[in-house]
This record gives sequence, C-alpha cells and structure tokens, in this order.
Amino acid sequence: MSMRKHNFYAGPAVLPLEVLVEASRGVLQHDNIGLSIIEISHRSKDFGEVIEEAEHRLRRLMNIPDDYAVLFLQGGARLQFAMIPMNFLGDSETAVYTDTGEWARQAIEEAKLFGKVHIGASSRDENYSYIPKEIDIPDGAKYLHITTNNTIYGTQWHSIPDVSIPLVADMSSDILSRQLDVSKFAIIYAGAQKNAGTAGVTIVIIRKDFAEQVVRPVPSMLDYRKHISKKSLLNTPPVFAIYVSMLTFKWLESIGGIPEIERRNREKASLIYDVLDKWEVFVPTARKEDRSLMNITWRLKDSQLEGELLKMCEEANIVGIKGHRKVGGFRASVYNALPMESVKVLVDVLETFGRKYG
Ligand SMILES: *Cc1c(COP(=O)(O)O)cnc(C)c1O
Repeated sequence: MSMRKHNFYAGPAVLPLEVLVEASRGVLQHDNIGLSIIEISHRSKDFGEVIEEAEHRLRRLMNIPDDYAVLFLQGGARLQFAMIPMNFLGDSETAVYTDTGEWARQAIEEAKLFGKVHIGASSRDENYSYIPKEIDIPDGAKYLHITTNNTIYGTQWHSIPDVSIPLVADMSSDILSRQLDVSKFAIIYAGAQKNAGTAGVTIVIIRKDFAEQVVRPVPSMLDYRKHISKKSLLNTPPVFAIYVSMLTFKWLESIGGIPEIERRNREKASLIYDVLDKWEVFVPTARKEDRSLMNITWRLKDSQLEGELLKMCEEANIVGIKGHRKVGGFRASVYNALPMESVKVLVDVLETFGRKYG
C-alpha cells in the first residue's frame, strides 16, 4: 500500500490502520465461514456475535451501567436531534438546550417541532468561541441537551454540568475520547464516523427507565422502546458499519482503553496548541479553558497567508485541515485514531510557518 496521508478530516475521519486491515479481510471472508461479513443475514449466528461483541466491548470501554441500553441505529446524529424530542418532549412541555454551535443550533430547531425550547445558555454572542458556565433551568423542564464537543467551533465541555433533570448529550465528535461517568446522562448519542467507526451507524446509550417515558405515538422505527426490545434488529441494521465499530472498540481496548486514549489525546492536542500559542501569526479561535481536544481551530492574523499554509500542508501530505465553510480558517481534527506521527508532521509545518511569518 502506498503511504497513508496525514488525515485531519472532521468526519468521516481517520480510522486505525489495524481496523482497516481487519475490516477489509472481513469483507472478503468473515471468520473463515466462506462468506463476507456483508453477505450474511443480520439474523445469522455470525452477525449476532458481531453485534453482541460490539455492545459488550462498548459497555466495557465506557463502564456503561446495566440499567442502560446500547443501541446501534441509523439516520445519524441528525435523526437523534428529532427522535429525542419526538419521544420525550410533549407539545406543551419545555426542554432546555445549550446553544454552543452549529450542531447544537440544529438540534434546537428540530426540538421546536415537538415542544417548547428554552435556551438555557448560549455562546452565540462571541461566535461560539466558549462554553457557557451557567445554565438557566426553569422548573418542570423535561431534559437538558448539551453538545459535549463543538466540532465546527473547536470548543468542548471539560466538565459535565451537574443538573437535577435528565441530561441528554450529543457526543458525536468526542465519544470514547475521555473518561466520563455515563450514569450522569439519560441519553448519549453519537454518529460513529468521527471517533467510533464509519458512517452509517449511530450509537445511542439510553437509560432504560427514561426510554419508557414516551409522550406521544411514534412510528416504530423512531421508538427507542422497540429498538431496545429487538436489540437493534428491528429492521436490517447497517451490518458493515456495526462491524467496523466493533473493530474500532477492539482496537481501543487493545491499546489500553479510554484512560490511555485520553492521555494520548491530551498529548496530541497540547503539541498543536503549543505551537499555535507560540507564534503570533496564529490566532486560535476558542477560549483557552474551553478548547477542544478533538477539533483544534485557528485563523491566521493575515488571512492572505492562508493559501501559503494550505500549500505547505499539502506538500507534507496533510489533508482535511481547512476550517468548516461556515467559519473559515483552519481546523485540525485529532480524533482517537490520528497517529502521533501525523501530529508531529503538522507541528513541524506550523513551526516552519511560524518562524517565517512570526
Ligand atoms: C458530525 C456531527 C453531527 C452530525 O452527524 P450525522 O451523523 O452526520 O447526522 C452532529 N453533531 C455533532 C456534534 C457532530 O460533530
């Protein structure tokens, strides 16, 4: 295989080489059964073992308590934006949302279709460059929704708010990246394509008693209770995506699990932030204490130089470094699977650029 590029894409994103090798083997022939993983029934014993292993490994990695269900659904994080209020927010009820970026805002818009939304906190006033520290929660609110990592703006909740109402979290871009207490949440959801596998499967971790509190009739495919009772096999699930997630969980366990990946993630992010802070030509966009360990965003003091930095990155085989089209500038996504070697290549480019332009 020719050299792999240094992949800083925000999603779909880099996967461990070990996972790609195993996944490609599984596509040719799964486990010596004479069939590909993508040509067997989702009700077969062989696929049953794959989805069970995926759940088992995820439970072990995240210490998921027994009173939580683990689901592998479709429709992406975007469908969860609608499915959560559809199930749990009555027409005249209020849910509290934190407005911390583009994805949070889209979750808010979907919730408004089903009930009342109270914006408990917002960082819109400063272009989503920070995480609000106070959340206003009115009496009787159904749940609080947060986006633990703001993929586009490069901010992250470093401490999870302690609240007395059910907490719902979009963890699409930082699931499995750091130690977290699952029991603080009623629902955790994440599209897999950033840190947990490939596009096509959405991970949902939901407290079983919360899943029972459905406020209106909902279609079967959008009913958490049905997915729980059918163990994510209500219809044909995305078998390949679940398989790749299972392999990604296996890889994560093999390197030492969440404590080890968190250590690596801190080390990788701090190498990049250090060089960004060192040279004035770089203007990191997120407030220091709220900086994301997963998506590192910055602009250049002189935007005329953007082409020059992009060219240097390209020459160093770095891809996916351009900021989201909504915000411009640059973004380095440094998910779990991004090797330290790629970080070092980027840091070298930034150092050379900084030395040249100050
Ligand atoms: C990427 C992303 C989404 C959208 O995920 P889809 O699976 O494409 O629907 C939602 N929320 C966050 C925080 C994301 O990073």
